[in-house]
Amino acid sequence: MLLSVENLEVKYGNIQALHGISFHVNEGEIVTLIGANGAGKTTCMHTITRLPPPEAPRVIAGDIKFKGESILKTQPSDVVKKLHLALSPEGRRIFGNLTVLENLKLATYARTKDADLNTEYNYIFNLFPRLKERRNQRSESLSGGEQQMLAVGRALMTGCKILLLDEPSMGLAPVLKYEMFRKLKQLNEDGMTILLVEQNANLALKLAHRGYVMDTGNIVAEGTGAELLDNPEVKKAYLGG
Ligand code: ATP
Repeated sequence: MLLSVENLEVKYGNIQALHGISFHVNEGEIVTLIGANGAGKTTCMHTITRLPPPEAPRVIAGDIKFKGESILKTQPSDVVKKLHLALSPEGRRIFGNLTVLENLKLATYARTKDADLNTEYNYIFNLFPRLKERRNQRSESLSGGEQQMLAVGRALMTGCKILLLDEPSMGLAPVLKYEMFRKLKQLNEDGMTILLVEQNANLALKLAHRGYVMDTGNIVAEGTGAELLDNPEVKKAYLGG
């Protein structure tokens, strides 16, 4: 088990956003968290990555463990540098006035001197050839789909061993959503462990090995992707009947 979230309770001010949730991610898996708006999916991602204030959710109970060790006292920068956990955030948050290459380069701040960055740039450019074509273009002029590729590429350039993806299909046309999900499958086949937050439950459950369904800060169902796709309650609430 690489990552485990145990009975986690989280608040923003006085508002409780997570009510004692537990889930885990094994090495090599794709695990998805699905659920409606406000269910607490992004809060999970921000808590795991130790997002600093002012947006930081406050842990009031429970634990988050990486390889069995609590990470609740880990500095946000060490989450990337030492735990090799990286987030591709909701809304992409790329640096629009920087080029594609500069955005990717920024993410290497966490790397050791001996990292073979050329191989990694090549890996990302093979995965997303469009980024290679646009490498000297300012990122704000990229299409939504290209910006999403850049957000994923930037997270990969940190040298992460677990990739956390928050809504990678948001705002993309259907054909680009499928394309992005094919790339995620390829990444996983190449060895990347993935924790995926997604509103498109159908796509996410088809891709993921396992999934958890969240509702108002609780986990209300869990199982393999196939089991959840076949679960009548999940079908009714999240898969359009
Ligand atoms: P979405 O799919 O809309 O992003 P989500 O499942 O990711 O939803 P969260 O963004 O984690 O849900 O929100 C969970 C709850 O926490 C919501 O009630 C939300 O209003 C609240 N919340 C989220 N961020 C903050 C914040 N910075 N300050 C106060 N409350 C917050």
